[in-house]
Order: sequence, then C-alpha cells, then structure tokens
Amino acid sequence: MVNLKINNIPVTVPEGTTILEAARLAHVEIPTLCYLKDVACVGSCRMCLVEATGARGLVAACVYPVSEGMEVKTNTEKCRKSRKMSLELLLSKHKKECLACERAGNCELQRLSTEYGCDPNHFEGEPLDHPLDESAPYVVRDRDKCINCNRCVAACKKQSVGAIGPIGRGYNVHVGSAFEMSLMESVCVGCGQCIVACPVGALKERTTVDSVWEAIADPEKKVVFFTAPSVRATLGEAFGLPVGTNVEGKMVAAIRRLGNVEVFNMDVTADLTIMEEAYELVSRIKNGETLPMFTSCCPGWVKFVEQKYPDFIPNLSTCKSPQEMFGALLKTYYCEKNGIDPKNLYVVSVIPCTAKKYECTRPEMNGEVDTALTTRELARMIKTAGIKFADLPDEEFDNPFATATGGGAIFGATGGVMEAALRVAAKLLDGNFEVVDFPEVRGTSPIKEATYSVAGVTVRVAVASGLANAAEILDGIKAGTRHYDFVEIMACPGGCVNGGGQPTLPDSVRNNVNLKGLRAKALYSADKENTLRASDESPVMAQVYGEYFGSQGSHKAHEVLHTHYTANKRI
Ligand code: SF4
Ligand code: SF4
Ligand code: SF4
Repeated sequence: MVNLKINNIPVTVPEGTTILEAARLAHVEIPTLCYLKDVACVGSCRMCLVEATGARGLVAACVYPVSEGMEVKTNTEKCRKSRKMSLELLLSKHKKECLACERAGNCELQRLSTEYGCDPNHFEGEPLDHPLDESAPYVVRDRDKCINCNRCVAACKKQSVGAIGPIGRGYNVHVGSAFEMSLMESVCVGCGQCIVACPVGALKERTTVDSVWEAIADPEKKVVFFTAPSVRATLGEAFGLPVGTNVEGKMVAAIRRLGNVEVFNMDVTADLTIMEEAYELVSRIKNGETLPMFTSCCPGWVKFVEQKYPDFIPNLSTCKSPQEMFGALLKTYYCEKNGIDPKNLYVVSVIPCTAKKYECTRPEMNGEVDTALTTRELARMIKTAGIKFADLPDEEFDNPFATATGGGAIFGATGGVMEAALRVAAKLLDGNFEVVDFPEVRGTSPIKEATYSVAGVTVRVAVASGLANAAEILDGIKAGTRHYDFVEIMACPGGCVNGGGQPTLPDSVRNNVNLKGLRAKALYSADKENTLRASDESPVMAQVYGEYFGSQGSHKAHEVLHTHYTANKRI
C-alpha cells in the first residue's frame, strides 16, 4: 500500500494506483475529457494536469502513478490556468453551435468551459467546414465538433471492430475510417458504443423524430409504439431520476400523451422470440443439426458475424429480433384481425440501440418497422411535448400486446436471453421441468459458461457481451478449444441496458456508477415480481399461436418470424 496526500487529505491506496483513482477515494474530483473508465486512458487532453511532489512540471493524473509520501495539489493557479488554456485551444477548432446542439446542457466540453470561465474566441482557429458523415442510417458524425479525445476510437477498438481511428498529422488530425471511407463503407457494425463514449455532440444517432411527429399528425395513419425491455430501466435518467429506476408506467403514460397512439410492450415479442428460439435449439439438438446455435436478437452482433465471421452464419438462429418480430406481427396478424391496411399502420419501435435503426432498413425485414427511435430520441419527444415526466401517473400498456413474462423482461441484460430460452427449452425437453432461475448466466462478467443436463440431454452454454469477447468465443470454437451447444452474444458490454442509444451520461457519472449492474438489476427485479416467469406461460403467446401461428416452428411462424443472413466479408 502507498500513503499520500491529495489537497492535504491523507489517503492509502494499492501500489500502481493512478493519482486520478486515488483522488476519487479522497473524494476529490479532478476534471477529465479523454479519460473514460474501462474504455479510454491515454492522458492526451491535459485536463487532469495536477502538481505532484517528485514530478517535473504538471502531470496527467489519469496515467501518473502514486508514490509513497507524494503530495498532490489539484487546484492550484498553475493547474487552473493550464486547463483553461487547453479548453480554449479545443474551442478554437470546435464548431460552436451550442444553442442548437443536441448535447447542449449535457456536453462535457461546455460544462468545463463554463466552469473555467473560458473565452471561446480567445484563440482564432481556422474556419471549419467539413461535411457531415450521414452515410449510415444510424449515426451522424460531425468532424467539426470533434475534440480528438479518441474516446470513440477506444470504444470501437474495445469492441474489436476498429472501424475508426486517428488520421492525419498536426492541426489536420481527425478521427475517421481507413482511406477516409464513410462509416457505412467501413467495418462499423452500428453498435453506437462510440456515441455514448463521446463527450460532445460530434456523434449522434441519425434521428427520425420528425417522421414520427408527421405520422402522428397524419389522420390517415394509425400509429403504434412498442418499447424494448431495457428502455424502461434507463429512460428515467434523461429526466434526472436515479440510475436503475424502472419507469415503465410513466413511460407508457408519456408516450400516450404524444398524440393519438397505442403503446405496446416489446417484452411480448421477446417472449415470442424465445418461443421460436427455444424450439429451434431443441430441434437442432434432437436432429443433429448445426451447433452451437447463436442467438440472433442483436443486429450489431449479426452484422459482425456477416462481415467478420461469415463461416458462422449457419450457426445463427433464424429467428428475427424481438423488434422485427413485432413489426411482422403487427403488419400481419394485428392488421388482419383489425381490418387495417398495413400501409396505414405506422410502426415505431423504441430501442436502446443504434444497430436496430440499421436493422429496420435491411431489405429482408420488408420495412415492417417504419422507424426506430433510441431512448434518447423518445426523451427528446417527451420534452418537446412539454410533458412533466416525473409527475406522470403509472399507466398500463395497451392490449392485446400488454402482458409479458419475466423472461421477456430480462432480455435487456446480458444473459437474459439465454436464461429465458433455457426456461422454455428445458420444458420442451422435459415437460415436468420446473426450474426458472439460471443464476450461472447472470451478472456482468464478460464471458459466462455453464453446463445443464435435462432429460438425459447435456447442454453446454456460453454468454458473452462486447464484441471482443464474442470474437474470443468464435476464435475458440474455430480452434477447437471451446465447445458449446448454445451461445448468447450481445454486442454492447452488459447487453442492451448499456446500448448505444441509451441516455448519454457524463464521465463524472460513468466513471463512478455501475451503470450496467444497476440498470440490469431493475430488469431482474421486474422478472422476480412477475407471476409469469417462462415465456410459454404468457396468455398472449397462447393467443397468437392459437389464432395465427398454430405451433412453435410452424410454416406460418417461419414465414413471418424467421429470416436469413448474408455474408458480407469486409476487412
Ligand atoms: S457504431 Fe460501434 S462499430 Fe461503429 S464506429 Fe461506433 S463503436 Fe465502432
Ligand atoms: S468523435 Fe467524440 S469521442 Fe470521438 S474523438 Fe471526437 S470528440 Fe472524442
Ligand atoms: S446489445 Fe442491444 S443495444 Fe447493443 S447493439 Fe445489440 S441489440 Fe443493440
């Protein structure tokens, strides 16, 4: 252990701790911009410069290790002047559109510039006029707002995708894709982890909010919303509620107040996905077909396989994601039942995810979901409509797609799809099977493994979140060092609760709060409180199979609820 003082506060920390980490233990906040816990730590922005005995000049607290007897001062005139100059240099080449920027009020550069009393025009920069990269249907990149902190680059590298990196030299250095390719031409999979890592408004989702407002105002259109399992565990953050607050009832009430719309529960098609996926798994096991089977509900993961590991396409479940199953269910069963022309049904999904914006543009999906809004976009619509979110009463989803099981609820957290599928698959193997909890696949560990035996059948499973961990699993299977029957992969670390469309929280929160754990806890609590735990107990499943699909894996179910994938190898 090492003893030191930070602003005269004694603190004892393990050897190798950085000054920044030690300061947090002493409850001293040091400003940062390029640092992001567990993602990026390069010491390039110079915001965390501090004075420390034994060091020559100012040192970057995020990378400088503590030493015995060290005295650190974080708030001297020298530190403040240095930080202010660094900020004013960043502002000299920053497109200052704060009045209209989506990150205004939630921008780390704006907050620090205000706190340090910066003059945004102190240094005259060169004029900025680079075109936006709007090539992808899920993200917009504005180079003129980028401060070259490289947090997005680190986030993408951590995903083992590496679609973006620093390009150029000196004043011209900027973040982009190899050979200045657009994002859509690059190996990007659309996970949006770069967006939630960005401290400013240089990256944002490609918004479709205006199209939704137009549809709501169109008397010819019937507008239906459905919300993904994890959105209820995060939307409250956009309205100042604590991380991990389940706001399902207020979320439904808020959407209903946007106009003449119906609000459905996407946990219902999470249940439907499980009904089909569990049946597919058991069929593959019984018929000796391709194993391991991979989940297919995450479009970022599916794109990763298509582009980087196309040999594994036969391993992907043919089930559509819950988003696309809902679109298909609404444009077929629901329209037929209610005499609605599918052309007049405008389907809006609310998702934690930017990859799902891309997914609904895939040709195989036939435009069944008209548009997908991120949690952030929904929050903006609620604010624009002047709805006082915190004061809303709790309201229920609309029938016939209101009731779902706990298995549907946990879809939003890593391990949730696996657990929900095991609940149903085990019953398909052994009609008397009663276990509903599979704790071995819960939690935020990057890779989880377990082996279960049901009715004489052994099922080896693995769960991974984050694409670098997915790659480790795929490489292991290829090399013959890993052996599984069923694998769940979510592109985002921690699963959809930590998706690229979730509320952007400042580094002061991200560095100190267990976002993934707290948000997941809200979903597991909902599961525990639900009297229906396994997807096959849902009355809505009984209804849609009874009235429309017949049975799991039927011809009709395949026609409406399943899809195919296409190899698209990219380097
Ligand atoms: S969306 Fe994901 S894959 Fe694409 S650049 Fe961002 S982090 Fe990389
Ligand atoms: S796009 Fe955002 S995260 Fe990436 S380097 Fe620029 S400011 Fe940093
Ligand atoms: S883990 Fe969830 S939020 Fe992330 S890309 Fe996959 S589906 Fe989207």
